[in-house]
Amino acid sequence: MTAELQIDLDAITSNVRRFRRIAIGEIMAVVKADGFGHGAADVATTALAAGATRIGVTSLAEAQALRNAGIGAPILSWLNPIDADFRTANLNDVEVAVPGIEHLNAAAGATRPGRPIRVHLQIDTGMARDGATARDWPHLCRLARVLQDAGRVDVVGLMGHLPCADDPTHPSNALGRRRFAKAVRVARAFGLHPRHRHLAATSATLNDPLSHHTMSRIGAGLVGIGSPHLRPGLTLTAPLIFSREVSAGTSVGYGYTWTAATSTHLGLIPLGYADGIPRNAEGAEVTVNGHRRRIVGRISMDQTVIDLGPDPVPVGQRVTVFGGDGPTVAEWASWAGTIEHEIVTGIGPRVQRTVIGKQRALRAAS
Ligand SMILES: *Cc1c(COP(=O)(O)O)cnc(C)c1O
Repeated sequence: MTAELQIDLDAITSNVRRFRRIAIGEIMAVVKADGFGHGAADVATTALAAGATRIGVTSLAEAQALRNAGIGAPILSWLNPIDADFRTANLNDVEVAVPGIEHLNAAAGATRPGRPIRVHLQIDTGMARDGATARDWPHLCRLARVLQDAGRVDVVGLMGHLPCADDPTHPSNALGRRRFAKAVRVARAFGLHPRHRHLAATSATLNDPLSHHTMSRIGAGLVGIGSPHLRPGLTLTAPLIFSREVSAGTSVGYGYTWTAATSTHLGLIPLGYADGIPRNAEGAEVTVNGHRRRIVGRISMDQTVIDLGPDPVPVGQRVTVFGGDGPTVAEWASWAGTIEHEIVTGIGPRVQRTVIGKQRALRAAS
């Protein structure tokens, strides 16, 4: 018996279907960071079977892993150093985002004759992270046009990203939309008319139809983050591997940060911060036999102590950390002072993965 992360791919199916109803354009399934911790290939296969048409990742290595897993759909990779292996990317039909002239030149330099590399030009619509500034954008478009005419690149997309789309009242949303619209006009003036124009990720897709354009890039939403109408796909459980009765006054764990006020039973689970249980999740709870129980003492690297209360619980009892009958990932995020994304992407490699709903996705995909 070991700690187990159960991944329910039916949740992904349900979430993709919801976004297909909401989004005006196509759905790109963003499966970076191992599909937000849910398994990139499984999430991609499931999302495609449910109606997503394209896949998005950050690195070329992630794109390559998906190709190796047999995913044939178009894949876009948007975060690469200029010495990335664009040649192999092109060979494997992986599209790349280019945030500036250097990247565009690097990508074009890896093109084989007769096989232009497919690129998405990236405009900074307000993140100040990646993407060309408004000032550099015309230069990027001009060079892209020249390289396209020379058969070196094929500009298939224009992309932006919004920094505050989770707050529909934030003024940067309208500003980002205007910047994107202007960038599209400038690109057209240079003779670039790519099929894909994409600005919205999960929040913008949920909150702001004006941001949808021809495609939404959905990552968090695939795995149930972003709206209460979405379905979470993870359940993390661990067996009680030790249990004991202690008397009042017993202190627990490193640094003695908690002391039992009354006699109680303590249980131990083999999950710690190396497994993605945030060490600072003070007051966090788990579910034992249908009852919420508190984590007490310091969360260690490998193990965590639970105050089970006055009644003993047998060793072997499964404890739900989140999902299922346990707390939600959102509760854990608030206990740890973070966002759900960090919790779901942080579960460590020691935790055994069990995938359910997979056969359905595979049947639908074949
Ligand atoms: C991660 C990412 C996305 C997906 O965002 P979600 O909010 O998780 O849907 C989309 N676009 C870019 C550029 C990203 O980095």
